[in-house]
Amino acid sequence: MAVRGNSIIKGIEVSEVITLLNKAYADEWLAYYQYFIEAKVIKGIMKDAAIAELDQHATDELRHANLIAERILQLGGTPLLNPKEWFTHTNCGYEEPKNFDVVAILEDSIKGEQCAITTYANIADIVKDKDIVTYDIVSQILADEVEHEEDLQALHDDISDFISSIKQNIS
Ligand code: FE
Ligand code: FE
Ligand code: MG
Repeated sequence: MAVRGNSIIKGIEVSEVITLLNKAYADEWLAYYQYFIEAKVIKGIMKDAAIAELDQHATDELRHANLIAERILQLGGTPLLNPKEWFTHTNCGYEEPKNFDVVAILEDSIKGEQCAITTYANIADIVKDKDIVTYDIVSQILADEVEHEEDLQALHDDISDFISSIKQNIS
C-alpha cells in the first residue's frame, strides 16, 4: 500500500472509498458481460452497426474494471475475488437479454448506462476534495459512460426512424 499516496486522502475513510470502488467494480464486470453476450445474441435490422458499438463498449467496461481494480489495490484493498460477489455488490444489477431484437437490446443497454452515470456521479460527489486520485479516475469513467449512453441513444433513434420510414413506405 502506498503510504504517502494514501496520506493525502482527507475527510473520508479509505475503507469507505474501497467499498464504493468494489461496488463499481462489480458493475463493470456485469456491464462487460452484458455487452459481450448482447453482441452475440442480437438480431434484426442494422445489427452490424449495433454489434460494433456493443463490442467497443464491452472493451471499455473491461478497461474500467481494470482501472478500478488498480485503484483498490493502491488503497490497500482487495478487488472482489469471486464472481458471486458481483451480484451482492452491484449498484446497477444485470439486465439479462430476453428479447434479442436490436431495439430491445439497445434499450436494455441504455438503462445500464443511465445507472452507471448516476453511480459514478454519486461516487464523484462523495470523494470530491477528499480523494483526488479516485476522483480523477471516476471522472474519466463517468465521461465514458456519458459517451456510451449518447452512442446507444443515437443508434437507437436512427434504427427506430429507419423502421418507421420503411413502414410508411409500405403502407
Ligand atoms: Fe464502465
Ligand atoms: Fe458504459
Ligand atoms: Mg461507443
